[in-house]
Amino acid sequence: MIFLSRRVVRWLIPVCAAMICTVAAQTSAKGAAPSVTVTVDANDAQRKIFHVHLTIPAAPGTLTLYYPKWLPGEHGPTGPIQEMAGLRFTANGQILKWRRDLLDGWTFHVEVPQGASTVEASFDYMSPTGRDGIYTGGQAATDKMTVISWNTLVLYPSSWSTDELSYQAVLRLPEGWKFGTSLSVASQSGNEIKFNPASLTMLVDSPVIAGEFLRVVPLAENPQQEMDIAADSAAALDAPADVFDHYKSLTDQAFKLFGARHFRDYHFLYSLSDHVAHFGLEHHESNDSRTGERALVDPELRLLVAGLLPHEYVHSWNGKYRRPADLSTADYEQPMQTDLLWVYEGLTSYLGDILSARSGIRAPEQFRDSVALIAAHLDNLPGRAWRNLQDTADGVPAMQGAPSEWGSWRRDLDYYDEDVLNWLWVDTIIRQQTKGKKSIDDFCHLFHGGQSGPPEVKTYTFDDVVNTLNQVASYDWRGFWTERLANHGPGAPLGGIEASGWKLVYDQNPSELYKAQAHDHEGTDAAYSIGLLLGEDGVISDTVEGMPAAQAGIGPGMKVVAVNGRHFSAAVLREALKAGMSSSQPLELLVENTDYYHTYKLDYHGGEKYPHLVRDESKPDMLSDILKPR
Ligand SMILES: [Zn+2]
Repeated sequence: MIFLSRRVVRWLIPVCAAMICTVAAQTSAKGAAPSVTVTVDANDAQRKIFHVHLTIPAAPGTLTLYYPKWLPGEHGPTGPIQEMAGLRFTANGQILKWRRDLLDGWTFHVEVPQGASTVEASFDYMSPTGRDGIYTGGQAATDKMTVISWNTLVLYPSSWSTDELSYQAVLRLPEGWKFGTSLSVASQSGNEIKFNPASLTMLVDSPVIAGEFLRVVPLAENPQQEMDIAADSAAALDAPADVFDHYKSLTDQAFKLFGARHFRDYHFLYSLSDHVAHFGLEHHESNDSRTGERALVDPELRLLVAGLLPHEYVHSWNGKYRRPADLSTADYEQPMQTDLLWVYEGLTSYLGDILSARSGIRAPEQFRDSVALIAAHLDNLPGRAWRNLQDTADGVPAMQGAPSEWGSWRRDLDYYDEDVLNWLWVDTIIRQQTKGKKSIDDFCHLFHGGQSGPPEVKTYTFDDVVNTLNQVASYDWRGFWTERLANHGPGAPLGGIEASGWKLVYDQNPSELYKAQAHDHEGTDAAYSIGLLLGEDGVISDTVEGMPAAQAGIGPGMKVVAVNGRHFSAAVLREALKAGMSSSQPLELLVENTDYYHTYKLDYHGGEKYPHLVRDESKPDMLSDILKPR
């Protein structure tokens, strides 16, 4: 999973603990796991409503059914139960009574009468039209395309693991729509596709992308790998050929990094639309990645999302094949523990980023600009003082979806970005300890390689990570990671950047990536000068505690109306910061706060500050070696 912006307490409900016991107790007494059929009518996708019908084997008594709640890759109880309506159960033509569980809103108890051997369940899934839902529960349908996320469209009986349950899916698409998926097709008749039976685990792990404008781009054979791209227009699919050549190279470079593949075939399901939720979600044999409509054809947008597909692809090895033991649950009802996301997401971010450079998706300079932005953000992050990196992982189920205001004090999902720096540090230590003979590639071969074959899950613990690192290079890895995860700064962990022969500096010139981010967010980022982030209308999205704007009394939600007496615009603010370098006058901001106006004077003369990496000529350039294609 990843948020596109990259500036991305467990719910231990008593009933869940009881259910885990129930599952265990019934394992010996239960018969064969049921085979369920699910038919999804997506003919109304353009209205953003999906009609679901399930046939579920059942016995007289109480049938307990779950709607998927804790979803792999989403790291929280994000199953969009609010979007379900029209729920109805019948058996032998008779309408059945049901009741939602009092302690868990994703659980339904259905009364099955004598003589019934199956229950017919039906409901509608209402795909969100606003910005409320997140991940697979977010917007997923437009006039021209949709993504079918099976977790939003099924119920499943309790007492069996999702590996044990078998689902046969049938999908009806709007007339003329084409589709792509890693799910194997049994037959197709007109707009109705019948898939081969799969475990519920693999069904939910195999979304379907569909649309009027769908382009299939072959990337590799043996095993077959392809991009299935659906867009809101035909023009959005018309990218230059070298864009796809880089993704072909990605499949090659990833195989060289890991030494094996754990999928039968692989599909990049890529949505290009300004009207779907923007994120990426990993699967064993595909990824569901959604960006803006012009993200393939517009060079600036392409640069902004350059890390997305490599990140999700790496997850097939790191996250799906190798997965933290306490994040691997028997079904979607059981809470997940997120303490090892610094490996699951952090290492994925590092490997995805270096693969983006090795495959040519990003030029080396663009990779360095991205690392500079990460380093500068963490270097000016007051939240590090109270909240360590480990807590950003531990707290995800409760904390994801937090608002952007006060983000620098609250901290965000920093196990993505901070661990890019930490795993770079690990890579440099391996190279130093082995005198250049080994690198992170050797760790990946040991940890993620092995025998190529179909999807499987091999779980790991903290100790397994430390032990594998020690097999590659002898070092105090336990001490290293314990310190990195508990560290409170001050400042970013820059050891890896510095050991790789580069250093973080600030100057007056924003990088290409920096400008693209500001353009995309329609805002101004004066984070590293006066500690202010604003929209193009001057509304402040965040202030950085301890920096000049916050110290002067300015906070998120206020609106900058004028700068040095002139109406606010991004250009006016930038020019004022520049002029302040050769002036003793304070920077004067007229700010509106809940209908009242105040003038704030900031005694700041440091000019604009934008981060870059520059060479440290006193050390060898290890970073350029790391980024070289294998
Ligand atoms: Zn991820």
